[in-house]
Amino acid sequence: MSHGITRKWITTNLLLLVLLLAGAEILFVSSQTQSYYNAVRQAIHNRYSSIAGQLQVTGNSETEATDTSQARALFLRSMVEQFDAKDRFELMLLRSGGQVLASSSGRIAGISVPEDYRLALESDNGRGESVYYSTAGEKVMAVTYLVPYAAGDIQAIRLVTSLTLVDAQLTRLFQVSVGVCAAILLFSVISGLFFVRGIVVPLGEVEASTRRIARGELDARIEQEYEGEIGRLCESINHMAEELGRSEQMKNEFISSVSHELRTPLTSIKGWMETLSRLPPDDPHYQKGMEIITSETQRLYDMVEELLDFSRMQNGVKLQCERLDLVAEVSDAALMIEARIAGQGLHLSYEEPELPLPVWADRNRLRQVFVNVLDNAVKYSPPDGTIFIDLLQDGESAFVEIRDQGRGITPEDLENVKQKFFKGKNSVRGSGIGLAVVDEIVRALDGEVNIASTVGVGTTVTIRLPMLGAAGPVPQSRPPG
Ligand code: ADP
Repeated sequence: MSHGITRKWITTNLLLLVLLLAGAEILFVSSQTQSYYNAVRQAIHNRYSSIAGQLQVTGNSETEATDTSQARALFLRSMVEQFDAKDRFELMLLRSGGQVLASSSGRIAGISVPEDYRLALESDNGRGESVYYSTAGEKVMAVTYLVPYAAGDIQAIRLVTSLTLVDAQLTRLFQVSVGVCAAILLFSVISGLFFVRGIVVPLGEVEASTRRIARGELDARIEQEYEGEIGRLCESINHMAEELGRSEQMKNEFISSVSHELRTPLTSIKGWMETLSRLPPDDPHYQKGMEIITSETQRLYDMVEELLDFSRMQNGVKLQCERLDLVAEVSDAALMIEARIAGQGLHLSYEEPELPLPVWADRNRLRQVFVNVLDNAVKYSPPDGTIFIDLLQDGESAFVEIRDQGRGITPEDLENVKQKFFKGKNSVRGSGIGLAVVDEIVRALDGEVNIASTVGVGTTVTIRLPMLGAAGPVPQSRPPG
């Protein structure tokens, strides 16, 4: 992973920077070369302009045209001999055909017809330029100007200057700019590596920790504290590990409490079976034993049903909804639990409302909701306590309120009672999935479960369901029309 980021950074950022710098370098060097060569060109031209200016004046006072022409030729020849800028330029005179007539350097022989002379002949302004390496291996710029006036046998003036100094300067400039580019590149590499390290190192730690968590070491945490996004990622992973640990612990507690719950009726069944095997069928205890075995078996069956149901519900609650009267459903549930309430010396306060409360719901699931909540109310009620059931309508919602006078739930537990496998500190028995199932079903019916409780006073569970026919969110399972 870490190699991936580094490689990606090199191939994208670094490569792009190298390309950009190379482009800038090429542009810079070529523009500098251009401007330096232009300056040389200008110096040559200035020199030529001054010669041409003097040439124009020469012979103007003469009357004969041939004399004027000769005078100019003479002037040019003397100029070549006394040329005062020999150290910078070489001044040459060319005759028609390109042969050198005279040169300020004194060298005439061996010079072939120069390229710039040919170009001057071809050009419109009588000027030709060439850059080449002289026989001495020196790079030079040569410009030939065709003399605009008749000057004896002289057809052109040629000025040659060395480019060695200019090129040396350009080379220095090139070296400095390459140095600057290298410094920029080095700085980017160092700062980039710092940046990449700032991601790669924490990511490595995150990777190691998540591997440990995946292996089941749920107490693994990322200890180092980082800032920004990486810090938040580490926090999320630590939180995830914490939650995983919590759910693992809850799962273990769930398994142990379920096993315990299953063992109680099994112990009783086993005990009675042993007793019955020694008793004749007409013994008065025989019948009682059979009844207990039957009721304990039923309890086991119900418990296993509840567990199976819960496990099925983990893949989403499947509902078979129909139009129901909430009043009738609550009355049925009350009737079912009434015997248990009376059996435990409790009282039930329920007044059936006269008007129906139509809802769109699954009958069996709804019954499961009421039975679970009422079962808790019975479980946690003190002897002689009363369980109140109220039905209310408010706007587009119907409310079922189940209130007990039991021991209540502490505020810390109240936050978690709807979570699966959660059992409060006050829990007497159960697997911790009752309210989780209630919440899941009611939410699937577009409703809501609210639990209010005061320790020592009692608990009120309020179930809100949308009423049928009222405007509002249409449950997915509602039939068309
Ligand atoms: P269980 O199946 O163990 O009863 P529930 O999900 O129904 O699990 O309830 C979770 C926890 O909420 C219980 O362990 C208990 O601590 C608390 N609780 C639920 N209903 C009541 C109530 N009516 N009075 C007091 N505590 C309750």
